[in-house]
Amino acid sequence: GNGLMAGKRGVILGVANNRSIAWGIAKALVAEGAEIALTYQGDALKKRVEPLAAELGATVIGHCDVTDLATIDNVFGEVEKLWGKIDFVVHAIAFSDKDELTGRYVNTTRENFLRTMDISVFSLTAIARRAEPLLNPGSSILTLTYYGAEKVMPHYNVMGVAKAALEASVRYLAVDLGSANIRVNAISAGPIKTLAASGIGDFRYILRWNEYNAPLRRTVTIEEVGDSALYLLSHLSRGVTGEVLHVDSGYHVVGMKAVDAPDI
Ligand code: NAD
Repeated sequence: GNGLMAGKRGVILGVANNRSIAWGIAKALVAEGAEIALTYQGDALKKRVEPLAAELGATVIGHCDVTDLATIDNVFGEVEKLWGKIDFVVHAIAFSDKDELTGRYVNTTRENFLRTMDISVFSLTAIARRAEPLLNPGSSILTLTYYGAEKVMPHYNVMGVAKAALEASVRYLAVDLGSANIRVNAISAGPIKTLAASGIGDFRYILRWNEYNAPLRRTVTIEEVGDSALYLLSHLSRGVTGEVLHVDSGYHVVGMKAVDAPDI
């Protein structure tokens, strides 16, 4: 790297394992000289996150389960003790009951609807609010979304509704934090085989469909999402906020099945 992120520090929430999109982002940031702190959700993931953090010389800052706001408070309290001020926050967190990521959206339960919105949407706002006093001018907040926010995708269901609300949250937060020169953006990533994605019905079919129909005729990697995140988290994007950047091999521009795509 060329040290694009030299002297910058930040928190990444959402590394579960080495297939996580957050891990792709972590690697890209550290390669450009950033200092990062990682959170983990519960002891099972702590054991996975610790060796990954060691690989990058990253700090494991603590447990964060966004359904327990005290854990968000604790994590940013620890970050403040460690560094004082920071320059970026990455939110790569989503959850829905996998029983509702298949079949018809209309069958979504109230309980899972609220839980999905709490973990996948409200958490960004809660984190932004807690992080705001620590964020230097020029800081950048990034979250992860999916095209299911814009168009109906099979099985994405309540998560699509949540991602639409998440993208709207990005715009509202961009206005609220903009006067402090803090930016808020999202990457809309194409489908990638991760732990979270394994809960989505027929995910392999979705991957294959993207390979056949995206302009680049392939899916994207966590490293590619990481490199685009680098842009949104660095000064290179200092004029960009409230934006949803598609990192999806161009899939979102396509209106119809490719003429050369085989039937699957
Ligand atoms: P992942 O399973 O690696 O990461 C999901 C993370 O969410 C995990 O680290 C998990 O611990 C965390 N999480 C879930 N519930 C939580 C809670 N209550 N408190 C704190 N953390 C919690 O999967 P991923 O695909 O890397 O997901 C990261 C983000 O990327 C998600 O927002 C996801 O919707 C989004 N995304 C994924 C894809 C894809 O195809 N994989 C595409 C577009 C967007």
